[in-house]
Amino acid sequence: MEGPAAFVSPSLGRRAVDRRESGLLLSHAMQPIADPSPEPQPPVSEPGEPAAPRGAPADPPAEARDASAAPRPRRRTGPPSLFGLTPDEFGSRLVEHGHPRYRGHQVLDWVYRKRVRDPERMTNVSRKLRESLAGLVSLALPEVAEVRVSRAQDAAKFVLRLHDGERIESVAMRSRRGVTLCLSSQAGCGMRCAFCATGAMGLRRNLRPEEIVAQVAHMLEATGWEDPGYNLVFMGMGEPLANYAQVVKAIRILNHQDGLAVGARRITVSTVGLVPQIRRLSREGMQLGLAISLHATTDEKRRQIVPLNERYGIEDILAAARDYAAKLGRRVTIEYVLLAGENDTHDDANRLAALARSVPCKVNLIPYNPVPHLPWKRPTEPTVQRFADWLAPRSPAVTVRWSQGTDIWAACGQLGSRASGR
Ligand code: SF4
Repeated sequence: MEGPAAFVSPSLGRRAVDRRESGLLLSHAMQPIADPSPEPQPPVSEPGEPAAPRGAPADPPAEARDASAAPRPRRRTGPPSLFGLTPDEFGSRLVEHGHPRYRGHQVLDWVYRKRVRDPERMTNVSRKLRESLAGLVSLALPEVAEVRVSRAQDAAKFVLRLHDGERIESVAMRSRRGVTLCLSSQAGCGMRCAFCATGAMGLRRNLRPEEIVAQVAHMLEATGWEDPGYNLVFMGMGEPLANYAQVVKAIRILNHQDGLAVGARRITVSTVGLVPQIRRLSREGMQLGLAISLHATTDEKRRQIVPLNERYGIEDILAAARDYAAKLGRRVTIEYVLLAGENDTHDDANRLAALARSVPCKVNLIPYNPVPHLPWKRPTEPTVQRFADWLAPRSPAVTVRWSQGTDIWAACGQLGSRASGR
């Protein structure tokens, strides 16, 4: 754990919104960290400077061979969480207990639209249901263990403590393009991508649907950020397609008109390349965005960075991505983390351009966000720029994504690196 300056009371609730001159909106409870220590200055390397040597490629992760092998969460006691029920399931539960189904619509309107979780404040709900609701479903959100807000106040990282003590991290980001909420799908991750702090933790367990939906409900409540068109990205802790059924159920709740009503096109699932699950996702009948974390342009290099490549090679993954794009009629995103001296050469850019041209896609270049104890480095800014300049005219749309929240260890690949408290 880092210094106490960033600790915010676990009782963080919905607060008055502070409209600062900068245009950023932050709740009063979410003050920027005063003195993050140590300041994570991204190490840089000169072009061509070799990164620290690494060992032989790792074995493919066990979870890639059998995603169902993940440890199960310890059973919660008490009624089921409302956040893990589809509106239909909730309606059926009400009917089973003698309440009309339409009351479910009223309760969900309070919870998801008005962000009210106290049954007593649900004034259009019958007294009988208000009195019995807490016995039918749990309306509690996971406890907040820690909140960190970036100096620029454009990112907030939430560390949530789950009922069995596991901790997960979620990130709310705000930019000119709007609000994006980055969600975790697993506690830890079994994919063991070499550059990633979460991968270094290993897989602790899959998250339940309510633990995924609750991340969104919590961030909306805690930040007070109002953006009806916010985006959800499954780019937090975990490989979402390795927790397929629970993630898809959570998405259905988030997407439902009586849930949070987030348009499917505003939800992006990011994967390192679980090919069968990509194909299955294309048959779910939802217009979800798909991001492929590629990170290398040859199978040999990718095996060193993403062990899952032992099982699904670049061509297999891109074929599945091509089919996904064709079936849904929308471009996929290719994510490419730039690692100094590893995948940032002229030849890499040429090969990446060729791969990108084979799929309807856009390309996101992500300069690496350093993680303590891992040897990888971020390329210098001129190297990143040269790579992007070479790639751009030869590839579909290219953007460079300088991550928000590096000072609070909230950027891509950094989750779990610091504030997880283990
Ligand atoms: S990059 Fe994603 S899939 Fe890879 S180890 Fe990290 S969290 Fe898991």
